Amino acid sequence: MEIYDLIIIGGGPAGIAAGIYAARQKINTLLIAKDFGGQVAKKAVAIENYPGFAEISGLELIRKFEKHLRKQKIDIERDEVTKLKKIGKKFFVRTKNKHQIQARAVIIASGADPRSMEVPGEKKFIGKGVSYCVQCDGPLFANKEVAVIGGGNAGFEAAIFLAKIAKKIYILEAGPKIRADQTNQEIVKKTGKVEIITNVVFKKIQGEQFVKSIVYQDQRSKKEKTLPVEGVFVEIGSQPATSFVKDLVDFNEKDEIKVNPFAGETKTPGLFAAGDADNVPFKQIVIAAGEGAKAALAAYNYLQKLK
Ligand SMILES: Cc1cc2nc3c(=O)[nH]c(=O)nc-3n(C[C@H](O)[C@H](O)[C@H](O)COP(=O)(O)OP(=O)(O)OC[C@H]3O[C@@H](n4cnc5c(N)ncnc54)[C@H](O)[C@@H]3O)c2cc1C
Repeated sequence: MEIYDLIIIGGGPAGIAAGIYAARQKINTLLIAKDFGGQVAKKAVAIENYPGFAEISGLELIRKFEKHLRKQKIDIERDEVTKLKKIGKKFFVRTKNKHQIQARAVIIASGADPRSMEVPGEKKFIGKGVSYCVQCDGPLFANKEVAVIGGGNAGFEAAIFLAKIAKKIYILEAGPKIRADQTNQEIVKKTGKVEIITNVVFKKIQGEQFVKSIVYQDQRSKKEKTLPVEGVFVEIGSQPATSFVKDLVDFNEKDEIKVNPFAGETKTPGLFAAGDADNVPFKQIVIAAGEGAKAALAAYNYLQKLK
């Protein structure tokens, strides 16, 4: 069985940067990714804080990342890692397509998945009105009424995106106050299409073949209300995509992998983590990319010592 020096798990900014740096160090590398883009591809409004690009769509930025990666001499596979273990000095990576690959070092750059509402009907209607990606699915809701779940910046940015498409948008927030910054609040107000409802306890999403409404309880009046909407966009944050790695790492209370922030080392020699999957604060593209680069260089040093 072929053994790679390094396997990188993830095709977002952290994984792609790690791949570019690993290739430049001439490490025999395999990058495995469920998709290319990660959270950046799902961003609803333009990115304005990645150096070199004053304003660029998430999709365009991540396509540039991917194009850069594909120029490198590394192997790339579209697959999902389901299990990671270490026996002796070797890592064994199992994927959904059922094969097992060996490596001497691994970088986990699997980022984060959207957090779900955990209400009846949510899972049933995924792809039938329930969405976690306004950029991908928003255009399907032309002239329709939709709900955005979450009153933070992500929710407000989703509403700004949808205001160009949908007839009416409700922003539903569980807390007593919205959390989006002032600029986003002003833009949302200007659209004239968005109604904000706070103090919401989500009860269920209902419909037949597709979503027809969302049911919630008003925390103040305790009355149950039904909003007739055809789309529900869930924007309530994310959770680290780290379920395939168990006892090889320590987790913090948010399920983020604990690393040494100098170079992304975990408690297991040869196993590194980078980007939103780890416990380094400030989840941003530039930070994830920087961590990916550091982890690849640290993996190179580790592999040199191993030889
Ligand atoms: C709505 C929203 C808006 C944002 N806006 C900005 C912004 O304006 N500016 C900014 O700098 N940052 C922004 N961010 C944050 C930024 O997107 C993240 O910090 C960044 O994408 C993290 O990169 P990452 O590579 O660690 O993870 P991700 O982008 O999450 O990528 C993870 C990758 O790993 C893959 N993967 C996951 N699990 C597996 C597995 N088991 N096997 C194989 N592959 C797997 C995924 O398919 C994906 O390719 C935003 C985030 C969100 C959600």
